[in-house]
Amino acid sequence: MVRYNQSVDAYKEAVDLMPGGVNSPVRAFKSVGMSPVFMESGKGSMIYDIDGNAYIDYVLSWGPLILGHAADHVVTKLKEVAEKGTSFGAPTLLENKLAKLVIDRVPSVEMVRMVNSGTEATMSAIRLARGYTGRNIILKFEGNYHGHGDSLLIKAGSGVATLGLPDSPGVPASIAQNTITVPYNDVESVKLAFEKYGKDIAAVIVEPVSGNMGVVPPKNGFLQILRQITEENGTLLIFDEVMTGFRVGYYCAQGHFDVTPDLTCLGKVIGGGLPVGAYGGKREIMESVAPAGSIYQAGTLSGNPLAMTAGYETLSALTEGSYEEISKKIDRLVEGFQQAAAEFDIPLHVNRAGSMFGVFFTNEEVIDFETAQQSNLDYFAQYYRAMMEEGVFLPPSQFEGLFLSTAHTDEDIEKTIQAIRTAFSKIEK
Ligand code: PLP
Repeated sequence: MVRYNQSVDAYKEAVDLMPGGVNSPVRAFKSVGMSPVFMESGKGSMIYDIDGNAYIDYVLSWGPLILGHAADHVVTKLKEVAEKGTSFGAPTLLENKLAKLVIDRVPSVEMVRMVNSGTEATMSAIRLARGYTGRNIILKFEGNYHGHGDSLLIKAGSGVATLGLPDSPGVPASIAQNTITVPYNDVESVKLAFEKYGKDIAAVIVEPVSGNMGVVPPKNGFLQILRQITEENGTLLIFDEVMTGFRVGYYCAQGHFDVTPDLTCLGKVIGGGLPVGAYGGKREIMESVAPAGSIYQAGTLSGNPLAMTAGYETLSALTEGSYEEISKKIDRLVEGFQQAAAEFDIPLHVNRAGSMFGVFFTNEEVIDFETAQQSNLDYFAQYYRAMMEEGVFLPPSQFEGLFLSTAHTDEDIEKTIQAIRTAFSKIEK
């Protein structure tokens, strides 16, 4: 029996100190009926809580740690850089290094601006799109999450979906009015929106593989049609690759699906576990950003030396082979999930795109937010708690995928499959 006594005590203290006891809502474990587990350390594929429990980690800080925890060469470089000073508020060579790598790797990015989080990246990208086109309306998709900026926190996925929250109070109606939301993968709704508002739509922002309503890949041709309609209407296409960037594949989702947007938002893996976001795209558009152009965006800690180092050391350690390796491990995990589901008669649907995958407790196809919500959340919560007991740490939300790293071993995968079998065998129907 796993004990969480110290975590329970730490949480009692935390709820008095921080809203809900956490600094980001999904960490509160509410949807799985547990008290949050407080973590102490991580190495490779493993994470350790303050009660001394060890888990194979499929959260990986919600995606960034594609090399696993505390990869030796990243830690060594971070120590070296920290010794020289942690922030200068002036340009450094480290920023050039990471920028070059990103430009090299992400097909749409000719110029890039570093920021501190995915939220900052999407907020900045839509300001740029509005400023550049002189239009106000943004079209987004239900169940896609683009961080917590006012214009994008509408019918959102991730924690908003996990906690079943309505659109957030505090977002003025005057701002929400400029956001149109349509179902993911629904080309007809996109066409209708363009028929009505076409020449006023500044940008379409989309997760090229949705990862915030669980994993939902784009239907064949969906991204291509978005590219075509936006081009026809003088609208910018923004790929929010905060989650998919350097995770779906070596050249991000845009390389994987061969669709090039005008702007791309990045986060998570690009910071290798330190706070980094970025937005980039066509040179002509990016040159509208201050001080090259007049669209303002800035950051005291943007391009921070430690963050640039973690990002550079992480991205430069990845090869196309790294994604093939991760993908093979996912093949095996998916097989394990499917066999266990058949054995214990559990409804299960697996969605997959490159190195991103997730499972839903339903036999139906999951193509959008509505179908994602068919997943049996009670089964998810039971499975979740049993997996924790078995030493497997998963994102505490149905509306997320599982994240794997190059540090996960075949042995980790086999242990996880065994844990899935045990968890499924215990699900009370
Ligand atoms: N966009 C996507 C697709 C995300 O998945 C997230 C976070 O999960 C964000 C934006 C926001 O990023 P951050 O949490 O770094 O602000």
